[in-house]
Amino acid sequence: MTLNLEDPVALSQALIRQPTVNPCHDGAQDLLAEALESLGFRTRRYHFEGVDNLWARIGTASPNFCFAGHTDVVPVGDAAGWTTDPFGAEIRNGVLYGRGAADMKTGIAAFVVASARYLADHGQPKGWISLLITGDEEGPGLYGTRRLLPAVIADGEKLDHCLVGEPTSEDLLGDIVKNGRRGSLNGVIKAVGKQGHVAYPEKSANPMPVLLDALAKLRGMKLDNGSPGFQPSNLEVTTIDVGNAAHNVIPAQATAKFNIRFNPNHKGADLIDRIRQLVGSAGSGVTLSVDMRVTGEAFYTNPGKLTELIVGAVKAETGRTPQLTTGGGTSDARYIKDVCPVAELGVRNEMAHKVDEHTTVDEIETLCRIYYRLLASYFAAA
Ligand SMILES: [Zn+2]
Repeated sequence: MTLNLEDPVALSQALIRQPTVNPCHDGAQDLLAEALESLGFRTRRYHFEGVDNLWARIGTASPNFCFAGHTDVVPVGDAAGWTTDPFGAEIRNGVLYGRGAADMKTGIAAFVVASARYLADHGQPKGWISLLITGDEEGPGLYGTRRLLPAVIADGEKLDHCLVGEPTSEDLLGDIVKNGRRGSLNGVIKAVGKQGHVAYPEKSANPMPVLLDALAKLRGMKLDNGSPGFQPSNLEVTTIDVGNAAHNVIPAQATAKFNIRFNPNHKGADLIDRIRQLVGSAGSGVTLSVDMRVTGEAFYTNPGKLTELIVGAVKAETGRTPQLTTGGGTSDARYIKDVCPVAELGVRNEMAHKVDEHTTVDEIETLCRIYYRLLASYFAAA
């Protein structure tokens, strides 16, 4: 197939037409590898437990500017709710429709075309341009960036600055740049007692008071007052489940779930230790257990060279000054932050994961110009 590498919209369409619903063999990466090789990039595929990943780079010296993203998409969802084929990549009235049109095949197309335009105008960069592309961001993510990045580094590659092309914009393209994310911890507290008749409490052990005491301790836990760029860390109890329909039965067990969104004042493992100590393990014949899992650590890229270049590129193309924020969910930037400064900028996220996912053709072209400008200013300063 001949790919059009001058037009980010045409390349977005080609990528969307590959139905790369996680988990899958990633046909979009086959196209990308072909496109990047035709531009002179050296590519390498990394396959971990059935997950496809791709690394590509061009250039030889330092510094290395890396674009990172994912080619997998979430399922179509309510297929009947779509007004167009989710993998048809139809353009209607200046709007491109399809699964991945926001999250994030348009971002990846913009990476490639911005690089192509840069190479056409400037020749080889004084450094590297690279792409770190995974096929597992929307799924469990175990064999995506988490594995790919250390493998790439073990193979002698190096990252100095990284931009993740996730859809970060809210109302207008470029209004939000993310330079950090909060961490997230999920917990389940389970209290197991002994079922019995409410009239004979001495013959049973009610798990409810023990569970409620534990939740009160959790809610009373002082986390912090915020940190640079972040709101205070926050704990929410999200459900309490007993499933007891009777008035006269003391239930055998009760569970509650909670989530903590935490800023860089905390490490997930420290929070887990602290909560275990706080909650304890038992009381009044009731056994208490807490299961906790950290799904992402908090990170923060201090405003500096990388964010200044991104802000400058957005300003030059749109006239808008983006806001640097750390809100929203987690992304693969949580792995990249251990290696180099990382920030995120992409199209508007309003339609991500929805029925009739779409992005305007204008937005895709402007994003591509922002990325181009970013490359030009990055290597001009190198
Ligand atoms: Zn995404």
